[in-house]
Amino acid sequence: GSFDHSQLTFVRLLGRGGFGEVKLYRSPSGELVAVKAVPLYADTDKEREHMLCEVRTLNSSDSDYLVRLRGAFFHDDKLHLAMEFMDGGSLRDVLKSSSARQRMPEAILGKIAVAVMHGMNYLKKEKGVMHRDIKPDNILVASDGSIKLADLGIAKKLEDSIAKTNVGTTYYLAPERIRGDVAEYNITADVWAFGVTMIELATGAFPYEVASEFLVLDAIVNSPAPGLLPADGWSEEICHFLAACLEKNPDMRPRPWELLSHPFILKWQAAEVAVSTWLDDTRPATSS
Ligand code: ATP
Ligand code: MG
Repeated sequence: GSFDHSQLTFVRLLGRGGFGEVKLYRSPSGELVAVKAVPLYADTDKEREHMLCEVRTLNSSDSDYLVRLRGAFFHDDKLHLAMEFMDGGSLRDVLKSSSARQRMPEAILGKIAVAVMHGMNYLKKEKGVMHRDIKPDNILVASDGSIKLADLGIAKKLEDSIAKTNVGTTYYLAPERIRGDVAEYNITADVWAFGVTMIELATGAFPYEVASEFLVLDAIVNSPAPGLLPADGWSEEICHFLAACLEKNPDMRPRPWELLSHPFILKWQAAEVAVSTWLDDTRPATSS
């Protein structure tokens, strides 16, 4: 059912992002929801209704690879999105937990790639949009082993709004987005961002030297793209998959639906992987 802020019971703070906080609440039906407050303002009831309608339509997804929206409402003048609670947190949280600082198993990377490629494909094919903010923070995991994309269409709304002065992280921007040489960059920019995300997850370190934001952006445009090497024990499939994602020329970079038939994706799609067991071993037990 639908609900508003007054019907929610606060549980705890889940995290802080570029634009605000995400808090855990219990809904009237007893379900846990992660509520994100987004600084999108609307002056009139009509504008608010329109914005809610847009967000609900975009998030009315029927995909197991996209975080579901449970409700949307305005509170304190800000748009609030009540999302399905993903109790494993984000892949950023996983990266931060000490035991995961080493390499991530290729089977887990495989399952992440399967989920994200399907999620991106669904968003584009069913909703006609790209994600625009792919990074470890926006890929969420749950103890049942599910892996899902979060924050669908939020980046675009924020870019279009007055909040755009409050820029998010630029480290996952594709070279063409930094150069600004394509009027409308396309979904292959999401594929690039996912490639950088995967290398970071695989190795435990962001693949460019982070001396300053300028140097990172300069390196993305002017240095060879990062990658994984078979000599370091990675399979041919994952090395080839990431080389495709991190093709610097956007015209040569594959789209998510093309990557769905890549050997790396086909291999891990067919495999049984105990994602929830891995998550248990990786994340320190959280107090509840
Ligand atoms: P951005 O503003 O660019 O999306 P971000 O992803 O770091 O940046 P938020 O989306 O605000 O910031 O999320 C902050 C943190 O809250 C996440 O890293 C994650 O740990 C937690 N979080 C967000 N959504 C959920 C959810 N649905 N279930 C569980 N935890 C969540
Ligand atoms: Mg996010």
